[in-house]
Amino acid sequence: MELKEIKGIGIQLEKKLNSLNIYSVEDLVEYYPYRYNFINIESIHNIKDMEPATIKATVIESGKVGYIKRNFNRLNFKAISDDIILNVVIFNRAFLKQHLIVGKEILLIGKYNKLKNSFVASDIKFNILENKIEPVYHLMEGVTNNILIKEIKNALEYNINYDNIPTIYREKYNFISKKDALNLIHSPNKKEDIKKSSLCLKYEELFEFMFKINYLKKINSKCKGIKRDIPLKSKETFINNLPFTLTKDQLTAIDDIYNDLIKPERMNRLILGDVGSGKTIVAMYAIYINYLSKHESALMAPTEILAEQHYKSISQILGKIGLKISLLTGSMRKKERLAIIADLQEGNIDLIIGTHALLSEGVTFKNLGLVITDEQHRFGVNQRNILSEKGVVPDVMYLSATPIPRTYALTIYGDLDLSIIKTKPSGRKEIITKVKKETEIKDVLYKMLEELKLNHQIYVISPLIENNNELDLKSVFDLEEKLNMAFNRKIKIGILHGKLKNEEKEKIMQDFKEGNIKILISTTVIEVGIDVPNSTMMVIYNADRFGLATLHQLRGRVGRGDLQSFCYLICNKEIERLKVLEESNDGFYISEKDYELRGQGDLFGQKQSGDMTFKIANLKSDYAILLQAQKDSKEYIDNELYKDNSYYQKIIQDISFIN
Ligand code: ADP
Ligand code: MG
Repeated sequence: MELKEIKGIGIQLEKKLNSLNIYSVEDLVEYYPYRYNFINIESIHNIKDMEPATIKATVIESGKVGYIKRNFNRLNFKAISDDIILNVVIFNRAFLKQHLIVGKEILLIGKYNKLKNSFVASDIKFNILENKIEPVYHLMEGVTNNILIKEIKNALEYNINYDNIPTIYREKYNFISKKDALNLIHSPNKKEDIKKSSLCLKYEELFEFMFKINYLKKINSKCKGIKRDIPLKSKETFINNLPFTLTKDQLTAIDDIYNDLIKPERMNRLILGDVGSGKTIVAMYAIYINYLSKHESALMAPTEILAEQHYKSISQILGKIGLKISLLTGSMRKKERLAIIADLQEGNIDLIIGTHALLSEGVTFKNLGLVITDEQHRFGVNQRNILSEKGVVPDVMYLSATPIPRTYALTIYGDLDLSIIKTKPSGRKEIITKVKKETEIKDVLYKMLEELKLNHQIYVISPLIENNNELDLKSVFDLEEKLNMAFNRKIKIGILHGKLKNEEKEKIMQDFKEGNIKILISTTVIEVGIDVPNSTMMVIYNADRFGLATLHQLRGRVGRGDLQSFCYLICNKEIERLKVLEESNDGFYISEKDYELRGQGDLFGQKQSGDMTFKIANLKSDYAILLQAQKDSKEYIDNELYKDNSYYQKIIQDISFIN
């Protein structure tokens, strides 16, 4: 059902909801609160002076707004609570004035000053009777918590009657219905309601997820692949052509790949390795073997920049051995494009490199034998076209820089074989990381100047412009101004953020790669795999806003050459947590710690999240549910119970040609 059909949702709000990834009524009712406010209403006679409390009151005199500065106002009004008449003040909420009708009952949240008989409110609520437990949602500009509460409530009044937990498990565990669960999770009356409803919603989410994994595993085990007849000495030929010695883990991965590719079963392998661990070389080996067996390979990167980067570095090595390699991008001229597509069709190209759109752009292959996907989640990539039309079953490989603890990897990547690259290439210097308070910013600027003098480049990350309703966040534009002042406007600064168009982003990245831009200020949109060896310093503002795994991935953009690199984490809070990064450069250790400290946190980083982020489940704290869901979904598949369930039939259709 469409969002617009819901009372209160117009085009404006619909657009805003879209940016929270809410596109349908189902999405909206599955936009779960991430926490709750437990409102404990007290009598004004019992609350302590100047301590946070919530009281009931009645408006007895409407409000007056005073402007203190242009962006700063105060609203004063009188209210009575029990027998005490209060002067209430609230800052920057002038818009509440119209709701403060004399005689209206409200909830005041804030601090009571007995001496002055005044109440400084941090919030005022108008819906007292209904909710003592208030859901709190992740927000964005223009969508307040109250709007979400209201619209979700409206949405829930529509007839929502889907229920994705198969009946046998719903009955087995005595789960409440989805409809009840949705109602309770969004407006619980007591703590137990939250527990009861979230359990069933978490199970639903994890069951579906594990169903996909288990089903993929099943179809993959049945899939016939390409049997290649390649001599073992091809390995030496490849290795001898490299400008460096491979690490121990790279060698193991290469062995894994060789064994996969000569077997008649289809390869379905994930190469999991920290940023900079050298996954591309390992991918090149697979491409090389595939080439020797007279098949074509396709390598897909998440962005054009990364595709170009791969094109350059891979051409240097595989081009020399004799492979014909082409790059296919959206920004190419049509004539050029068509020529490449024709070549592909005839099998004249051994390796095609492009973005994830590569396979869905009318491209056909003569003899496609290998598809490699770099830094991207899996379920989103639709390879249906080539696979169904051509009837071929290429081997598949994924490259991921998201180091996750092995136990979890085995479950959530349960359908894939795993090669883990832990050892870093030798000679690589560890990134020196320092946590700095904002008062120590001079040290950071000094260090920046030092690096700039060496003609090195710098990344500066700010968590935000997408989210500047929170006051302590440095917007990228603030930062630009500050840095311009600090360096007397002599340094070329570039800005990158999610609101730029793709071409604009690519242009700025290109300028940075070519060294025209010296300092790149960016939100986290900056690519995971970007490789600019001349950048030696990473400065991350408001670092406490990020999980350790994300910070580690961000800092992985430096230290990519043999220059000593530095990372400065600026923040005033959570310094202890961030110290983990000062101590370690090991992505697996860090993700383990992140897990310990924050639960799921941002285990999957920013980019990779994709289908791996859950709406309500948490891989760590809900691990027991995950295991149960894994077991149940396997049973569900093994006993072919899904055949009677149209919802799971549809999932199967969607994923059967993917992967
Ligand atoms: P990632 O795993 O992040 O994709 P890359 O494959 O881009 O890492 O490798 C990062 C850099 O390290 C590249 O410039 C690559 O040429 C280099 N590299 C890879 N393996 C080795 C090695 N064994 N010794 C030295 N340098 C290496
Ligand atoms: Mg890479």
